[in-house]
Amino acid sequence: MTKLFQTVKEKIETGTRITDTEALALFESNDLLAIGELAALANRNKNGDRVFFNVNRHINYTNLCVNRCTFCAFSKEAGESGEYTLALQDVREKAEQAAAVGATEIHIVGGLHPELPFEFYRQMLRSIKAVSPDLHIKAFTAVEIDYFAELAGKTVPQVIAALKEAGLGSLPGGGAEIFARQVRNKICPEKISGERWLEVTEQVHRAGLKSNATMLFGHLEGFADRVDHMRRLRELQDRTYRQFPEFYPARFPAGQHPRAGRQRGRRS
Ligand code: SF4
Repeated sequence: MTKLFQTVKEKIETGTRITDTEALALFESNDLLAIGELAALANRNKNGDRVFFNVNRHINYTNLCVNRCTFCAFSKEAGESGEYTLALQDVREKAEQAAAVGATEIHIVGGLHPELPFEFYRQMLRSIKAVSPDLHIKAFTAVEIDYFAELAGKTVPQVIAALKEAGLGSLPGGGAEIFARQVRNKICPEKISGERWLEVTEQVHRAGLKSNATMLFGHLEGFADRVDHMRRLRELQDRTYRQFPEFYPARFPAGQHPRAGRQRGRRS
């Protein structure tokens, strides 16, 4: 076993954090079996033999979006073929169908709609809770929360409190993409900055809601950008006392270039 793997193994066993340099060296290594063993060890230490899953239904209430992220093939402009916005009744019916087949969670994200009022989002949450108060609603990215604040002329904590009151239970964590400014400016120049994503997510956590953490990789970023992204998530996780239950790294489809973009769906 190389010194790097031995060091990382000892750190996993003693619950010590690895450094950026060690994380970068792991990314640069092609010893997948050794890295897989370390990952399995870290997983076993944390979770034992337990695995977790939930039964949910995704509802994307609109594909209209004022942003034009270069990697996104989901969003449309008003008047463009294929644009849609669900009525509240449609959302409710989808929640009813999901509950009828055993879903315990409704997962909601959408584009940044140019016209829907903030009240629409609160009513959407209430209409789902009216189907069953036990349905957990995981909804809206930090990008949407920031947009709602601007739309409603409210602060982020005010928006979160209003959505929580209407039934919001947690956030799915999308929109983080990659925090590194140089790359982010190329793949989603109109989206909130990485710093703002972290700031909004911190406010979400401080309001008592959990959120997932995500990373979009495999496009224009380098290994150092991934390490930077994960360290900043880890720092937020430390500041807000473990309010990220899940880290979801999403690979950009191989063979596609984000500047050519808009080939596959991603939202907010
Ligand atoms: S990724 Fe999100 S914010 Fe960007 S264009 Fe698509 S729907 Fe809009």
